Amino acid sequence: MKGMSRTRARRLVLTALAVAGLVLPGAPVVASAHGPDGPTTQRLSMGTSVRGRPIPVLHRAFPPAEAARVRVVVIGSIHGDERAGLRVIRDLKQRNLPANVDLWLVRTVNPDGVVADRRTNAHRVDLNRNFPYRWRSVDKGSATYSGPRALSEPESRALKAFITTVQPQLVVTFHQPLYGVGANDKGMPVVRALAKGMRLPVKTFACTGVCHGSFTSWVNNRTPATAVTVELGPSVPDALVHRAAATILTVGSRG
Ligand SMILES: [Zn+2]
Repeated sequence: MKGMSRTRARRLVLTALAVAGLVLPGAPVVASAHGPDGPTTQRLSMGTSVRGRPIPVLHRAFPPAEAARVRVVVIGSIHGDERAGLRVIRDLKQRNLPANVDLWLVRTVNPDGVVADRRTNAHRVDLNRNFPYRWRSVDKGSATYSGPRALSEPESRALKAFITTVQPQLVVTFHQPLYGVGANDKGMPVVRALAKGMRLPVKTFACTGVCHGSFTSWVNNRTPATAVTVELGPSVPDALVHRAAATILTVGSRG
């Protein structure tokens, strides 16, 4: 915040958010940074977990006067024991941003699961079975417990509200360990471009087509965005982390 008072910087951020129409309900700006020529970085929270942990969002974009932008959301993890995607998020926080990409980074939507090193949230619900598209009850106690109803969990409700507010064109969500980019009916050119850039195979995952209550299928069937599932392997070399991050920006910048 060199050369700028904290108050002025905060006012600029709030103005930028208001101009973009992207003030998230109940999500205060908790910090901001603004380089003279670089993109703005805004730290927000989309909501809180069952245990009250914030679900942080980092928004990187050049000021609104720049060219029309493609809104890209990247989610590092939805399953708390699949953490390689968190490294992709860390990379994307630093990487040079194409001027036309409006980047929203979500480290994890399941902070309680990450802390516990557990797939599910603190209610033992698989958040990736809790979305309102073809939701179906899956037994409590199973690894893919659906929750008592769609959107029963605060994390799922926060993520749905976030996507609805930001209205991204592209959503990329990381999982492990199936090693591939999930084919889907919504955007095969994007799937192929991501797979090529990341050097991963295109695969059909059971939960990309007719999956019950998955986040990606909800986005693809209930919003204008194209959502893509990227499954990294069981152990992930740094080179793949960096390739994944670079590819998302390249593919995103093509709109
Ligand atoms: Zn997963």
